[in-house]
Amino acid sequence: MKRFPLHYQILLALLLGAVFGALLPVDHSLLEIEHADGVAEVTEWRQVRIAMDMGAQGMSDVKLIEGPDAAAVVDYFAGLKSRQRAKVVLDVDKGEGSELSFRAIRSIRKHGTWATAIDPLGTLFLNLLKMVAIPLVLGSLIVGAASLGDVGRMARMGGKTIGFYLVTTSLAISLGLVAANLVQPGNAIPTEVKDRLMTDFGAAAEGKLQSVAVDLNPLDFILSLVPTNPFDAMAEGSMLHIVFFAVFFGMMLSLLPREKGHHLLKFFEGLSDVSIKMVDVIMLIAPIGVFALMAATISNFGIGILNTLLWYVLTVVGALLIHAFVVYPLILSLAGRINIVQFFRGIRKAMLVAFSTSSSAATLPVTMECADEMGVPKSVSSFVLPLGATINMDGTALYQGVAAVFIAQVFQVDLTLGAQLGIVLTATLASIGTAPIPGVGIVMLIVVLQQAGIPAEGIALILGVDRILDMIRTTVNVTGDASASVFVAKSEGLLSNVNTAR
Ligand code: ASP
Repeated sequence: MKRFPLHYQILLALLLGAVFGALLPVDHSLLEIEHADGVAEVTEWRQVRIAMDMGAQGMSDVKLIEGPDAAAVVDYFAGLKSRQRAKVVLDVDKGEGSELSFRAIRSIRKHGTWATAIDPLGTLFLNLLKMVAIPLVLGSLIVGAASLGDVGRMARMGGKTIGFYLVTTSLAISLGLVAANLVQPGNAIPTEVKDRLMTDFGAAAEGKLQSVAVDLNPLDFILSLVPTNPFDAMAEGSMLHIVFFAVFFGMMLSLLPREKGHHLLKFFEGLSDVSIKMVDVIMLIAPIGVFALMAATISNFGIGILNTLLWYVLTVVGALLIHAFVVYPLILSLAGRINIVQFFRGIRKAMLVAFSTSSSAATLPVTMECADEMGVPKSVSSFVLPLGATINMDGTALYQGVAAVFIAQVFQVDLTLGAQLGIVLTATLASIGTAPIPGVGIVMLIVVLQQAGIPAEGIALILGVDRILDMIRTTVNVTGDASASVFVAKSEGLLSNVNTAR
């Protein structure tokens, strides 16, 4: 019997996972409080007050948490020292005068379902992919750079890659800005909805605002490309440093006399081959991992909020789809003479993994495998793809453009053409600085907002739908990286497979 192809297995797992998660939603207001007399389940509360009973000195460290955010209560309690926990008095206000009070609390848990209980299977899949990324990139890139062996060619390829990334990223932001100005999603939000979102997500937004310490100085960025210790870079997984080191190392390796460099080259070839084998095996559990990731995400996600922010979500998703399915195909077929149907066939596995993991970094080994199957040589893919996973985030940049205009519209900040051009610049830099892991795009958005004079606390408005949009923008990010690898390989005359060539 012919095996059901892996990409269909992954697609099916993704759909089934989403359905499973939607059928078993998490109740975000449910708190399970384990105390001296047993376990109490509390739902539909308005406010929780957590304080420390200091005996004669009364209550101290009073913290108020608005409902229905059970996670905030759990996190606050978990953050206390065990000495403090013993003194905690937790009062729950259920509205209309009804109050519950708990003491001698042993633990507080939020509600989980079967859909969230299987999340560790998803994390296992993610961790396996992340594990193999660094040896894969290091081995393939050193061999790739050594086999090109030509500094001029490497520099030309680097120039084309960076050029492709900068052009597509600026196009993406411009598309986002145009879409947001046309649809005007921010003007469709009633004031009560705005106020409700600001209270519900205000605390979470505050946390993100405090975590931002980014400086968008291009010169610093260039200086920071050189690692002072390559082993540190590998231990920390800092991809740009690894790319820099591996390209330099590989090129110098090709300059050594054969009898000196031969063994080292064989070693890195072996490292690259064994890493590729590892990816093959890890991908066998992709359907299970994807199912678990989707189930947990959808179960955790309150679908209702999609309705509240419908126009904003539609604008972001619509523009992302145009970018992925109109802009890339146009560039690839017009400038690269590449068969786009074959391209999307070749890349679909990576797109599905990007969608379910929301991480370009975790998807990187899969993107490299897809590029390999499309006939992109390792000398190109091992350079273009890790670089792209780190600095090229068209989906993120586009989303930052829409989000900035949306928040400005809600807060009635007038954005002049000059201000919007400023957004193109800062969002390009911000997307380059965005780490390729889930949820970082919204943190970098804060920098864009601050530069444009838009109230940054406005991210509270869009936090609720960020997880879903992250999945889609990550898919676009990965598609952009893959487009660049095919484009550069074709333009260098290195695309070996007939698949994508026209
Ligand atoms: N999750 C995105 C990525 O990994 C980054 C972001 O926009 O948050 O590509």
